[in-house]
Amino acid sequence: MKIFYKSIILFWSILLFLSCNSIDDLSNGEDEELIYNYEKHKNNRVATLIMNDEQYNDWVENNTFKKNKSNLIKLTKDIYKEFPDKYDFIILLLNESKTPKSLETESAKGEGSFQPVSNDINGIGCIIAQCTNPIYSNSNLFGSSEGKLKGVIHLGNRKLIKNGPILHELMHHWANHALETESVSNYGNNISSFPFGRNNGSHWGFTGGNVNGQLGGFIQSTLQEYDDSTYSVNKFEPVRHINDYHAPYNELELYLAGMLPIDSVKDFDVFKNITSLSLYAIGSASNKRMRFKASSRTTYTSEYLKELLGKRIPDVNDSQKNFKILLMVISNNSLTNEEFNQIDADAEWFHKKEFDNLPEYNFYEATKGKGSITIGY
Ligand SMILES: [Zn+2]
Repeated sequence: MKIFYKSIILFWSILLFLSCNSIDDLSNGEDEELIYNYEKHKNNRVATLIMNDEQYNDWVENNTFKKNKSNLIKLTKDIYKEFPDKYDFIILLLNESKTPKSLETESAKGEGSFQPVSNDINGIGCIIAQCTNPIYSNSNLFGSSEGKLKGVIHLGNRKLIKNGPILHELMHHWANHALETESVSNYGNNISSFPFGRNNGSHWGFTGGNVNGQLGGFIQSTLQEYDDSTYSVNKFEPVRHINDYHAPYNELELYLAGMLPIDSVKDFDVFKNITSLSLYAIGSASNKRMRFKASSRTTYTSEYLKELLGKRIPDVNDSQKNFKILLMVISNNSLTNEEFNQIDADAEWFHKKEFDNLPEYNFYEATKGKGSITIGY
């Protein structure tokens, strides 16, 4: 009988010990408490992350997205406490009518910025020079424990889904490490160009394409060659699309994104060692050309691209074509009806799989109907 009582006491002691442990485990969830408040809106497309004034001012005034990686990570981890891990990209859209000056850096106005998180594609270049394996993942670090997250985009005001660099920022996921390019910082005769492509800014610079690229570059078919290593092209921007991003991706961009076979990329040139650049008009003032001198010209054929980058795996047949986006407005207030209606309408437009006659391009139009985006939760 004694033994029986002893057993009962032991049983209850073990049970008590176990339940204490499980209570401890639960209270461990201190970090499960949310840092921010979240609002989900009708249509399930737009969500708001609401900061208090102090948090919001800190986020905006200190350009936290660009300058404080660990605080950005705290924010994305907080988002994953409230939203499922099923998004390829998270877009953080500031609830401002104009992009705040504090987001400006030496090289950019701060309208858009891309934070790479992971890459699972071979044959589009590598994040570091001479690397043998371009595949990497920091998704878990950002709170995406399933490894889905590819990148986080920050946009500086609420109009930038439709009238901003969203297509440009998305392209940074695929095109950051493909080519070595160069650019210059001003017009003039005794200038010298600097690295501007893979591992040095990741834009096309003085690179041709079938159209101007979302990441910059000129239209190859407008190139004219003169004596003395001098060339002219229609006016372009080395760092972005010339027409406020209202344009489709060029062939190289579509190839890197897995939307076109490599044989569809027509030959283009990359110029380096640029020592002069001038702007002039022909006929009307709107018809502007740029003339430059460059001692290095490399023509990229699709064979050369293949040799340089290796085979894209997955190739165009197997590549991911639909991408899921979580659109999170960052605000210190609930959205007004007017703000919500505008952002929601822009989000609906950006992810619809339809060609329309608007001057702006959504993802489906920019990928010529090959790719699509789903925004929502
Ligand atoms: Zn860029």
